[in-house]
Amino acid sequence: MFLSARRAEALATLQQAEIDAARHRLWRDARAGAAAQVMLEQVWRQVGEGDPHPRLFDDLDMALARLDAGVDPLTVLAIWQGRLLRALGFGWRADRCVGCGAEASLAFFSLKRNQTVCQSCGAPYADRLLQLDPGAQLLMRNLPWPLAPEAHAGDDVAPSGIGLAAQNLYDVGALLLQRHGRRPTRARGLFHDLLTAPQAAHGRAVLGPVDEESSHGG
Ligand SMILES: [Zn+2]
Repeated sequence: MFLSARRAEALATLQQAEIDAARHRLWRDARAGAAAQVMLEQVWRQVGEGDPHPRLFDDLDMALARLDAGVDPLTVLAIWQGRLLRALGFGWRADRCVGCGAEASLAFFSLKRNQTVCQSCGAPYADRLLQLDPGAQLLMRNLPWPLAPEAHAGDDVAPSGIGLAAQNLYDVGALLLQRHGRRPTRARGLFHDLLTAPQAAHGRAVLGPVDEESSHGG
C-alpha cells in the first residue's frame, strides 16, 4: 500500500494498493463484516499513530483469516479483544482469585482489579462483579488461535457451549476496553445488535446489555 501526503500531519492520498487476501466472506456475511469493522476500529482508536505492534498486527491478520474461514464472529471478536487488551498493557489474570489466591471455584470477574474472583470471596459483592462462565474462563486463560471453523455458537466445545462462553468473554472484553481504552468505539453498538440478534434462541448474555455501563474512558 502506498500513501502520499505533503506534510506528516496532512491527510494522505492512497496511491496504490495490492490485495493480499481477498477475504470475500467479510463482504458477503454481515456478521463477519461487522466483526471485522469493530476490530479495525478498535485498532484505529486504541493504538497510537506510529506506534508499532507487530504481534497485534499478526493477531489482527489471524482474526480476519478466521472470520473468512467461517468461525463464529462473536468468538473471534471475543478472543481478539483479549489479545488487544494484552497488547495495550491491560491483560487480565484469569488463573486465580484476586482475594484469596484460590485456583478453584472461580465464578466472577472484577473489572476494577482486572482479575477473576472465587465464589466465596465474590458472593458478598456479586452485584458489583461480572459473573464468569466456566467456558469463558477457559477462553480467557488460553485466548486460543487458531480457532477451528467448527467453533460455531452453540457447539459443545466449552462446558456451557462456546456460544455462551464467547458472549460472556465478549462482554468482559468490551467493558474493559470501555474502561481502559483511549477512545470509545462507535461501531460496537450497531454491531452488538447485529451480532446478538440471531442468537436469541441461545439464551443470551450472562450479563446485561454492555451499553448499560457508562463509559469510564477519557
Ligand atoms: Zn477467593
